[in-house]
Amino acid sequence: MNPASPALIELRDAALVCTACRLAETRTNVVFGVGDADAQLMLVGEAPGKKEDLQGEPFVGAAGQLLDELMASIGVSREEVYIANVLKCRPPGNRDPQQDEIDSCKAYLREQIRMIHPDVVVTLGNFATKLLVPTDVGIPRMRGHAIEWWLGATLIPTFHPAAALRGRPSVKEQMQEDFQLVQQVLQRTAQQVDPVQLELGR
Ligand code: URA
Repeated sequence: MNPASPALIELRDAALVCTACRLAETRTNVVFGVGDADAQLMLVGEAPGKKEDLQGEPFVGAAGQLLDELMASIGVSREEVYIANVLKCRPPGNRDPQQDEIDSCKAYLREQIRMIHPDVVVTLGNFATKLLVPTDVGIPRMRGHAIEWWLGATLIPTFHPAAALRGRPSVKEQMQEDFQLVQQVLQRTAQQVDPVQLELGR
């Protein structure tokens, strides 16, 4: 796992003392994000839940177990990816994020994406997808598509794992399909020959 750069550490330190919105008053821990600071794959969820708030890490509950399973199905481990959320602090009672909270927090996510510079960004659910791809189209129609996105990355929307846990089995099956697409795009990116290396190899 590649360690965080000084800039990413500085950003995290700023987030850890952030009081930009009301969630600062009720959080136990800021859940900034974890993983490989040079990851090819970045996953973006919605907001910390109760367990995440207590432990300060994203996706440590049941939804996280499903994510681990989906990553394992494409041969990727948690250590190899970077995981973050739209909101860094837990909304009380796990209510939906409010727009002013998203607006206060979104610069952290933007800077995380810019610094980590992943090849593929997977948005988990409506909040992450609608923040990163302004659209009125819901996940059932957005998912399954690879979108050419910012900084040369490919963005792939899928359901939030909590939807698979409480929904029909077909939701999990569609998430499995979406992770297959993630694997294909990662492989395609890995195969692209870096022109600089090509020059050096001569
Ligand atoms: N749900 C999320 O969206 N993020 C987490 O970190 C945990 C649950």
